[in-house]
Amino acid sequence: MRLVILEEKDNVAEWAARYLIKRITDFQPGPDRYFVLGLPTGSTPLGTYQRLVKYHKAGKISFKYVKTFNMDEYVGIPRNHPQSYHTFMWDNLFKHIDIDPANVHILDGNATDLEAECKSYEQKITDAGGIELFVGGIGPDGHIAFNEPGSSLVSRTRVKTLNQETITANARFFDNDMSKVPKQALTVGVGTVMDSREVMILILGSHKAYALHMAIEEGVNHMWTVSAFQQHPRTIMLCDEDATLELKVKTVKYFKDLWSVHSKLIGDPIL
Ligand code: PGA
Repeated sequence: MRLVILEEKDNVAEWAARYLIKRITDFQPGPDRYFVLGLPTGSTPLGTYQRLVKYHKAGKISFKYVKTFNMDEYVGIPRNHPQSYHTFMWDNLFKHIDIDPANVHILDGNATDLEAECKSYEQKITDAGGIELFVGGIGPDGHIAFNEPGSSLVSRTRVKTLNQETITANARFFDNDMSKVPKQALTVGVGTVMDSREVMILILGSHKAYALHMAIEEGVNHMWTVSAFQQHPRTIMLCDEDATLELKVKTVKYFKDLWSVHSKLIGDPIL
């Protein structure tokens, strides 16, 4: 596992965008060779998406031969609802880049048979050849996607009932009206993300510092589902300084000393 520590959230966004661009470019995608990318929603990836759009508009990256799979979606709100993850992804990324809409995959939280929808999503990932790189964020309780504390670390895509804390936290996006907040979501499982060939997790802010500590300094634990990625052969955790506040000085120093190695992972600056 690599931990790349950068000063501010903007540095994290820039590093993540450049890493993605390098990985996609080096992969040399084409009509018979799609780059398959897993993507999150939330405030954390926003800066990264803005930079991907900027670099796309500057002609530095094409998504023509990229397929995407999103992590999760609410159950029972219209696809065009302002808080749906469909809306989030189209507004913040997809409508600004050259991806073919047929290559975008987001779980359908309005499917009549939700279990069948989850099963078919897993099949679509398999049919696409598996995910090359899954990008994720985490919650302060260490969740990844909607795999909240206690989720099985071998879980697959499924229907998840959201815990009360999540429902309460989400109320602000639904006019502070609890009755409007979705109570269920469809989410990829920890096992689904673990099957990706590479995982990049973004962690920003002091409110995620304890989660980062539990993710990397303690053992694998289903109460902190992101800790499962300790056992993934290729995980990059990318964080800002604030997110390191609960780490041991020794841990921070160890990873900062690897900067000369980590800085080479993104290649030359994009001009
Ligand atoms: P955030 O959400 O990026 O808005 O902090 C992440 C999450 O809860 O998974």
